[in-house]
Amino acid sequence: MTGSDQDSPRADVHAPDDVLRITRRLQDAGFQTWAVGGAVRDALSGGHPGDWDLTTAARPGDVQRLFRRTVPVGVAHGTVGVVGRDGRLYEVTTFRRDVETDGRHARVIFAQTVDEDLRRRDFTINAVAWHPLTHEVRDPHGGVPDLRAGLLRTVGEAEERFREDRLRVLRALRFAGRFGLTIEDGTWAAAQAAAPELVHLSAERVREELLKVLRQVRPPSVSLTLYQQCGVLRHLYPELEACVGVEDGKADVWTHLLRVVDQVPAHRTTLRVAALLHDAGKPRTRTDAGFPDHAAAGAATAHALMRRLKFSNAEIDRTVHLIAQHSDFPTPEASAPELRRWLRRVGQEYVPDLFRLRIADLRARGDGDPRLDETNRLWKRVRRELQQQAPLDIGGLAIGGGELRGLGLPPGPLYGEILRDLLERVTDDPSLNDRETLTRMVRERISSREG
Ligand code: ATP
Ligand code: MG
Repeated sequence: MTGSDQDSPRADVHAPDDVLRITRRLQDAGFQTWAVGGAVRDALSGGHPGDWDLTTAARPGDVQRLFRRTVPVGVAHGTVGVVGRDGRLYEVTTFRRDVETDGRHARVIFAQTVDEDLRRRDFTINAVAWHPLTHEVRDPHGGVPDLRAGLLRTVGEAEERFREDRLRVLRALRFAGRFGLTIEDGTWAAAQAAAPELVHLSAERVREELLKVLRQVRPPSVSLTLYQQCGVLRHLYPELEACVGVEDGKADVWTHLLRVVDQVPAHRTTLRVAALLHDAGKPRTRTDAGFPDHAAAGAATAHALMRRLKFSNAEIDRTVHLIAQHSDFPTPEASAPELRRWLRRVGQEYVPDLFRLRIADLRARGDGDPRLDETNRLWKRVRRELQQQAPLDIGGLAIGGGELRGLGLPPGPLYGEILRDLLERVTDDPSLNDRETLTRMVRERISSREG
């Protein structure tokens, strides 16, 4: 028994066996339990449900008592993870409702009914409950009709809901882009009004929202365009707002950035960050003749922005380096030594991403950019070059410090000088890279110095 109306609507959606099993055990122990959130939304709209979340009258202690394998995901907030037979973690959360909020984190207390729990959820499409045993649909806020109409709307009064938790503005823009929804007028007006307040959100929450947009399979440009139209870009990403309207060929810089992001595959999220920021140096470097040194300026802009959003040092270093190097490619006629010098400069481990970014960049400029063919040919040459494994740093030379000591040279800065010099010569002619030849070259150097 779920304790609800006899004639409420039902929907036959397919839920994993574990969802049924967990629900049954809770219901048998007397705790009303429903599936809620993203999985219900996705299942009811014919999509592929992601993580199934359950909401229940049971308290965390009850859930821990009823199931053998649990994980205390967020017990203080009412969430216990139950490990299913399929090995996946199902989050079971006690009915909650919001109390006094500061606009950053909604404080919650436990509630008695599923309806209270649905009322605290952000958007109508996310506030539908479905009962895994009876298949009953509980939709007090009209999420199912909104889904059908393609509308995103807050539960309750938009202004108030955004004031309670400003992250909901970013979530609105993300969901609208992800599902191709129109944002209902009142919700949109309230989102625009709340945009200046978003600067009070923590860097981590802003960053995670951006990364969720960039992980979307649907083109991220839809949500990012809404960021701009809503005023969020101006307040959270002023460096990117500065790109709007800066003419660069057929499109302005902002539009170009969006197109490049869309061209990079969804699973390469970090590269999508680089794509979003790669030309952010252009507004500052614009001249009549183009954008000299815009890559270096873009790298500096990306560095500041990513620091502000508290990306990890490793992510910052990688992205900044890609951006700094993104417009410095060898010409198609470059000699093999020139190619190798470029590889040494950019670092072998960056080369595939630099080409991916370059190709996305050129594709975004439209069909028939002659540089696309050139770049593909260059990529083939570079791949062949890498297969030959010519040394690209002194570690790849056939001799090292041990051999220099064997030749009677006293250890010191001279070692580095000699090895760097050998690397230059091997870069010109990789066939020199064997022990005997390099040893002979060092001997000649010593005797010419002594003589
Ligand atoms: P996804 O498929 O991206 O995980 P989701 O809808 O499951 O989408 P979650 O962030 O996992 O999104 O949140 C689960 C549910 O919790 C949402 O569907 C919504 O009902 C509720 N929720 C999440 N964040 C908020 C918030 N900031 N304010 C109100 N309700 C929220
Ligand atoms: Mg989810």
